[in-house]
Amino acid sequence: ASMAPTEGDKQPVLRILFFPFLLPGHLIPMADMAALFAARGVRCTILTTPLQASTIRSIVDRANTSLGFLRTVELLREPFRRFLSDHHAEVDAVVSDGLFHWSVDDAAEHGIPRITFLGTSMFACSCTEAMLRSNPFEACSDDPATVVSLPGLPHRVVELREQMMDPVKRPHEWALFQLIHAADRRSYGELFNSFHELEPAYAEHYRATLHRRAWLVGPVALASGSGKDVTSRGAVAGALSPESIGCLRWLDEKPASSVLYVSFGTTTIFSPEQMRELARGLDLSGKNFVWVIANGSASTDLCMPHGFPMAHRGYIVRGWAPQVLILNHPAVGGYMTHCGWNSTLEAVSAGVPMVTWPRYADQFHNEKLVVEVLEVGVGVGAEDYATWIETHRVITGQVIAESIRKVMKEGDGVTIRKKADELRDKARAAVEKGGSSYDDVGQLMEELIARRCCRRTAGE
Ligand code: UDP
Repeated sequence: ASMAPTEGDKQPVLRILFFPFLLPGHLIPMADMAALFAARGVRCTILTTPLQASTIRSIVDRANTSLGFLRTVELLREPFRRFLSDHHAEVDAVVSDGLFHWSVDDAAEHGIPRITFLGTSMFACSCTEAMLRSNPFEACSDDPATVVSLPGLPHRVVELREQMMDPVKRPHEWALFQLIHAADRRSYGELFNSFHELEPAYAEHYRATLHRRAWLVGPVALASGSGKDVTSRGAVAGALSPESIGCLRWLDEKPASSVLYVSFGTTTIFSPEQMRELARGLDLSGKNFVWVIANGSASTDLCMPHGFPMAHRGYIVRGWAPQVLILNHPAVGGYMTHCGWNSTLEAVSAGVPMVTWPRYADQFHNEKLVVEVLEVGVGVGAEDYATWIETHRVITGQVIAESIRKVMKEGDGVTIRKKADELRDKARAAVEKGGSSYDDVGQLMEELIARRCCRRTAGE
């Protein structure tokens, strides 16, 4: 897919190749990012499979073990090499998903700068970097309840061993992340879907302590600025389901900030037992809710307790929901989330406080950022890192209801909401002309243009 520039063409047109991984959580922000560079006059190409989102989803579903996941990463190398070989003269820079660690060598072969994009927070990247560099597990007991401290970060960050990517239990993931971070260090720099005002200490940590170059250009879902894309992005064939349209109408009827939005992204699946407890928690909380049940989760018919209050208090969307629209609806006053970075940043951009329920990957780190550093969320008490094909310990309905009440109620909830409002305003300002993210896009473009001019002068 190519995006033509939409602004004046006074400077030589810069050409950037974007190479996202196939999961929606990687594809969506990379496409948003390409759109924002295109809006600033860059000719952007997104290299991906020609399949629709639904087909991409089914490929990913099939790769449902960590080894299958690693194979998916490797399978795309050959097509990428072919593309670069045929088109390297038309590419000034490659923005590659961090998972494609090998793209650093392929880009270098053609003298093209490779910029990496891991699709997470600077906070989470800094935690992972500290973990990979110092391997704090070596000096720790094997007990999953051991508290592990991550050294050298701007804040004191401690996590339970069982909340982390433990190299003893997950040697393949650990090895992959070592490769990813080694490739990132050899890259031209890193792009972040974040903004300076959100995690200034980590932007500084990157620059001053890690000596790594980073451009913070988000929130890209705000910066891409196209309302209709936000409505339909990720939905099959770009269409909202009747349930989604019904959901927005249902929200229109509810008082301001009275509804909890419940959704766990695209790769989280709950067991029937956990679904039942979640339903009980929503019931006990006494709050209105919209609950998105992703394809693949247990059927609601199996899980709903007798007398579950769907009639007035709850609305269920099965499959894909227009998340950004829902989060920005005035009726929504809280978001129960798995802390996937896109979802987290979308909540920040909408000023919606969070009930955090991380499951794996970078999600436990993002929870720390939301709850302890930014103080715009309350944790539900998730303790075990486990992928979507592994079993998690069940969290009870009472505990779930308690954390919902904390976020949605007067008292604590009011302070959290005030902080969330402040962050929303900062997020919006960052992408405006003259804002920090707007400026970072401009700086990167200028650098790449200057670099291309040097290449030309040198007769490359
Ligand atoms: N999303 C959506 N509707 C859904 C589920 C997800 O629009 O029903 C979008 C969500 O807004 C976010 C992305 O999919 O942009 C999920 O990315 P995230 O990093 O939060 O989680 P992941 O799915 O990668 O775990």
